[in-house]
Formats: sequence, C-alpha cells, structure tokens
Amino acid sequence: MNVKDIFLTMEYGPAPESDKNAQEFLDQHDRRFGLFINGEWTEGENHFPSLNPATGETLAQISEASTAQVEAAVAAAKSAYPSWSQLSGHERAKYLYALARQIQKHSRLFAVLETLDNGKPIRETRDIDIPLVARHFYHHAGWAQVMEQEFPNFESIGVIGQIVPWNFPLLMLSWKIAPALAMGNTLVLKPAEQTSLTALLFAEICQEIGLPKGVVNIITGHGSVGEALTLHPDVQKIAFTGSTEVGKKIRRNTAGSSKKLSLELGGKSPFIVFEDADLDSTVEGIVDAIWFNQGQVCCAGSRLLVQESIAEKFYAKIKNRIQKLVLGSPLDKGIDMGALVSEEQWNTVNGFVERAKAEGLEYWQVENCPTKGCYFPPTLFPYVSPASEIAQEEIFGPVLVGMTFRSHQEAIKLANNTRYGLAASLWTENINLALDVAPQIKAGTVWINTTNVFDAASGFGGYRESGFGREGGKEGLYEYIKPKSIKSSTGFTIHNKEVNLRSYIDRTPKMYIGGKQARPDSGYSIKVSNPAGQTVGEVGEGTRKDIRNAVEAAHAQSGWAGMTGHARAQVLYFIAENLSARAEEFEQRLVEASGYSGKDAKLEVEKSLERIFTYAAYADKFDGRVHSTTSRHVTIAMHEPVGILGVVCPKEYPLLGMISLVLPAIAMGNRVIVLPSETSPLSTTDFYQILDTSDVPGGTVNIITGDHKSLTTELAKHFDVDGIWYFSDKQNAETLEKLAADSMKRTWIESEYDWLQNPLQKVFLRKATEVKNIWIPYGA
Ligand code: NDP
Repeated sequence: MNVKDIFLTMEYGPAPESDKNAQEFLDQHDRRFGLFINGEWTEGENHFPSLNPATGETLAQISEASTAQVEAAVAAAKSAYPSWSQLSGHERAKYLYALARQIQKHSRLFAVLETLDNGKPIRETRDIDIPLVARHFYHHAGWAQVMEQEFPNFESIGVIGQIVPWNFPLLMLSWKIAPALAMGNTLVLKPAEQTSLTALLFAEICQEIGLPKGVVNIITGHGSVGEALTLHPDVQKIAFTGSTEVGKKIRRNTAGSSKKLSLELGGKSPFIVFEDADLDSTVEGIVDAIWFNQGQVCCAGSRLLVQESIAEKFYAKIKNRIQKLVLGSPLDKGIDMGALVSEEQWNTVNGFVERAKAEGLEYWQVENCPTKGCYFPPTLFPYVSPASEIAQEEIFGPVLVGMTFRSHQEAIKLANNTRYGLAASLWTENINLALDVAPQIKAGTVWINTTNVFDAASGFGGYRESGFGREGGKEGLYEYIKPKSIKSSTGFTIHNKEVNLRSYIDRTPKMYIGGKQARPDSGYSIKVSNPAGQTVGEVGEGTRKDIRNAVEAAHAQSGWAGMTGHARAQVLYFIAENLSARAEEFEQRLVEASGYSGKDAKLEVEKSLERIFTYAAYADKFDGRVHSTTSRHVTIAMHEPVGILGVVCPKEYPLLGMISLVLPAIAMGNRVIVLPSETSPLSTTDFYQILDTSDVPGGTVNIITGDHKSLTTELAKHFDVDGIWYFSDKQNAETLEKLAADSMKRTWIESEYDWLQNPLQKVFLRKATEVKNIWIPYGA
C-alpha cells in the first residue's frame, strides 16, 4: 500500500505501544506480589490471579491479605501516625512533591501496566490517568504546605481506611492518598482485586522516596479485606469509591462507630442536548461521555436527553460516528476503546442489554467488535422509557440510553428522575439557558459544553445515592481533617428548686407544620416538667404521620431555597428583632421550665440573638469559589442548600441549642423539621410565634414534639429528608445511621458542643451546603 492508497482509505495502521518494561517489571517480581505493610513486603497466605482482560492471560499472582495482615497494616499506620501528623506541612509537602516527581518519571511504566491490568486504552492511561495522578500529588503537596494557614482550627484525623475500585485504579488511589497524606493522616489502602498492580508499583515508589514506614500501607485482596478494614476500631475514617450497594453496606457497618465516612458511589448521569447545541461538538462530547474507559465511569453521561426537534438529526450523526469507533488491543495507540475489566463485568453489561432487547427496545450496536477478550460493542438504545431498567440502573459499560424532551423544564425533570446525583453535562450555545438549568440539576458536577473533565483543584462527588463528601479541591480536604476540639460548654447550673410558675398557662402548644399550628395526629399529649418536677405544660406526641406532614410542607416550600441570600438575611434579622421584643418572656420560660437562674436565662437569650445575627450575616457571605483548574474552564464551586434537614436538638440549652442549629440551616436555604429539646421543648414551641411574625414562609421551619428516638427513626426512614443533624442521645446514633443508609442521607452526629461559644460557626454552614462544581468553557 502506498501513501496515496492510505490517503484514499484514511485507515490507521497499527501503532502498538511496547509492553516490554511492564513485562520486565512483572518478571522481576516473579509475577507474584506481596502486601506492603509498614514499609516492608509481606507474603499473603493465599494468592489470586490478576488477568489482562484484553487477552485473558494471567499477569501476576496477587496476595490475599489475612485478617491478621489487615490488623498489622492498621497497627503500622497507627504507630506511624504521631510522628507523621506532627511533621510540619512543609516536610509533608516535600514527600508529596517527591511522589509526584517519581510518578512523572515512571509515567510510561504506570500507563502500560494500568492498560495491561485494566484493559483501558493506552491513549487514556498515558494522556489522562497518569498525568492526573501526578497532578493530584503536586496539587496536594501545595495543600500540605499551606494547611496551617488555610485550616487553622483543624487537625488530621488519624488512620484512614481507603478502598478503591477497578475503573481508574491509580487515579482513584491518588484522589484518596494525596489529600490524606497532605492533611497529616496515615492510611491503609485496598485496591480492587482485578487491578492491584499499579497500587503495588506505587508502594515501591513510596519506598524509593523514603516515605516513613507505616505512613502508606497497601493491602490487596477481595471485598472481605475491604470489609475488615471498614470494621477495624482503629480506623477513624473510611474513604470509599465503588458501587452504591457496597457503599450502603459500609454505611450500615460503620453506623454509630463515629467513623468519618466519604462515599463516592454510582451514577446515571444525564447528558442533555438542547436544539441550539453545536451538534458536531456534541457528538464528540457523547463519545467521551459514554465510550471513554468503555463506559466504566461513575459519572459517565449514560442517559442522553435530546430535544425532540433535533432528535432524528442528532441520532443520525451519532450512528454515523459510532460506526467509526475503533475497538482493539488497548496497547494500540490508535484505538478508541479497549476491553471491559473482566468477564464478570462483561456478563453484567450484557445482562442489561439482553433484558432491554427482550423488552423489544430499538438498539444500534457497533459491528466490528473483537470476539476474543472482554470487548463489548458501543451500544445505543435511542428511545427508552424513563422507567425502564436501563434508564434507571447504572450499567457501567458502553451502553447509552436515549430519551427526548420538549421544553427545558421537562429536561430538568427527566435529568433529576434518578436516585443518583453525581454529574450532568449540558450542551447549548445559549449561556443563559445553560446557567438557568445547571443549578436546577441535582448533581455534584455540571459540565457545560464539555464532559468528563477532572482536576485536583475541583471537588468531585455526589448528591443523593451517589454518596456524600467531595474529593479534590479545598472542599475535598475537609474530608481528611476535623475541628481541633468539640467540647461542651462549661454550662449553666440547672436548679431543681420549685419556682413560682408565673408564665405557666394551662395550654398545650401545638406542633408547627407548614406555617400553621397543628394538632398531633395521635391525639395524645406529653406532660412537660421542670427539673423540680413541677408540670410546666404539655406538648403534642408526634408520630410518623406528623413527620410525613412536616416533610410534605417542607417539600412544598421550595421557594426558600430560591431566595437570594440577601432576602433570607432580612427574614433572619426580623426573627432577631421579634425575639428581642419578647426577650423577657423567653427568659422567664427558661427560668420556670428549664431550671435556669435569671442571669443564665438572660445570657442564653442574648447569645441566641447574637447567633441569629451571625447567621443572618452569613446568609449572603458564605461564598463558593472559582477553582483554578488546569483546563480552560471557569470552575465555579457553588454552595447549594442540602435540601430538607431533620434537626434533632440537644436536651441542654433548649433555646440557644435550637437556634444554633436551625439558623445556619435556613440561612443557607434549607428547610428544616425540628425536634426540640426532649426535656425542655417549650422554648422551641414558643418560638413559632416568633417565626409567624417574622415573614418566615410556611414550611421553612417545622416543629414536631415528642420522643426523639421514634421521631428520629421516622426522619431517617423518610426518602425526602436529605440530611439529619443529630445532637441528642448518642445511643440512637447507630439506628439513625443504619436507616439513613437506604437513601444515603447525610448524617451529622455530635453528643457535645460548646453552645455558648459556638467555635464551629462556619462548620455549621458547610454542613448546611453541598458544593456543586459547574465547569464553563472560558478563554481562548
Ligand atoms: P464494588 O463496589 O464491589 O467494589 C469496589 C471496591 O470495594 C473494591 O475494592 C472491592 O473489593 C471493595 N469491596 C467489595 N465489597 C466490600 C465490602 N463489603 N466492604 C468493603 N469493601 C468492599 O464494585 P464491583 O467491583 O463489584 O463492581 C460492581 C458494580 O459496581 C459495577 O458493575 C458498577 O456498576 C459499580 N461500580 C461503580 C463504581 C463507581 O465509581 N461508581 C466503581 C466500580 C464499580 P474487590 O473488588 O476486591 O471485591
């Protein structure tokens, strides 16, 4: 064939990358690897093979860590922790920088090894995975350096257990290890059983740079090894990326243990194409969205939503484009798609496709797909119903499902019609439309006219069942630090002397739902006594139905979230004004119902007023950021309200505790269901008169009185409650977190806090918000 012939066919010849160095690396280890514990290599008792999914050949034998070896790894991390955490940020930065440099120096070996082990194209490992890995270590070297200045009231957590999946083996490792080390933690990481090799090469790099022993430990094995790690009492935090199913299991396993948890789980992300989009660019976008890494991407744009007016034209373009996708040896630099990670994954993907075909759904599949190895043809189901299995479930393979919409409101509804909320991609030439739609999509990342771009400077993570916590960006670092101290206030003296019940009127304050007083559905009331045993009132005994009604009222009040911070601040100041006007009455109530001295009651009301002012002030000041990502984007980290929060108040500080919890939540645009102090609920039930007169829209704050245990259970089970702040009896924490796993609610549980000083005032604001990163193309 001469040059002219080549130009006529425009076909690529093979361009294989040599795997010589990677094979030599495997040979040097006799194709058998141990565990990296306390800076040494230890043989596992059993081994299992790691396969090349493109050829089926066995690459190496990997050790299965025993329970004793998991123990040893955690013990090593624990003993390394004191000295590592006490190093200066600068010292830790030097180690992270050295890791970054070594990764760059060995980048090709890493890329080839990853391709052999995972089956993904060398083009991706070489140009995307490994450069991003190095970028993560560089970026976090910087965070180590400036930690003391940037997080002055925070410290490291301790031993971190990290579990990563097989789709981006080394990249996920770097997302976990770099921030953990930067913030002064030590760790034990378990890679996925299918793809351990690059993590083991990384362990060698840790040895090469002289990282102190025990700071990083890598243990290999199956899910049971990960499970043992999550259950270990000396592991203070778990960072997990993987399936929603295992994420929920980890949430349940760690419930009530006080372990910090970040979960980056599955997705079914919408890829929305409006009629004014540049269709040719959008087609390239869709190729990246769903056929990058064979579609084995948690944020893959796997649900295509196309405006009806252009659907046919757009589908014709996609059909034409996918026929040109080249599948073949992942080591060939000219191929677009390699093999799925394993036969098991191939069977899972194929199962979804066969069931969809059996439903009679129209589909197109690429024909020239290799028949040997775990290759799966790019597949498109262009017209599916939003309720069908393939439209709802994460397939985690190169399978795209399509739906059409007419108006942009319909697009938003369809986009949000999922239990997930990881990412979304919008395509339009109209910036107004894009910026109107982006905030309305429940997803942690929204890409405008782009997709699947990542950077260490930007947070990544989900809403809803896509998990919680962020990785990357400043927001991601909070996952690896904790406030320096959470102490109780020195406290007021609570008297149990009988008092003259001046303000006591024989009435039963009702509950407060949707801006109206509401009788308890049960028809029962509970007697409220003061510490001296005098009856000071009665409150309604709330039940499941009251919680349901309150959640419905909160749900209906979506307007509160849409108000500007300035407008919300006005309402909050008005609350303070009205409380101030009735300060004496509230003081009296504290004296009579809660056993306060007059002086302490005055102080609690004063502090409450001050706190309302604080959060009114922050309503329009707790800004997001614009991240300095490496691509040409403005990456806006927006603060959004979490949604509907259950707020379970402490027994002590019945007024101040409630205000300190409710005010930051509503200042950030959340709606709340408040369970007042179990022993002293009357200061909160009195408070609804203040809410009524302060222009707080009905449904923003709902108050349900009664037994915390049963009401918290109802809140935890409710799928429309997005998070629960729980400051009541610790013994209910385990049940709460177990139940919260079903809908992946965010839970925040503390048993003590200094309500008088409020040292964590900004932490409340962070807990009241989700960070959404919106990537907008910018500059030339
Ligand atoms: P898993 O969630 O099972 O695996 C992720 C990691 O968790 C692996 O290291 C795994 O170990 C480990 N693990 C498994 N069970 C436990 C446990 N009980 N406790 C602690 N760790 C555990 O994903 P799979 O690999 O099994 O893939 C299944 C499906 O999950 C895929 O088809 C895909 O849909 C989805 N998935 C989603 C990902 C995402 O990023 N959203 C990533 C990977 C998969 P080991 O692999 O050794 O068993």
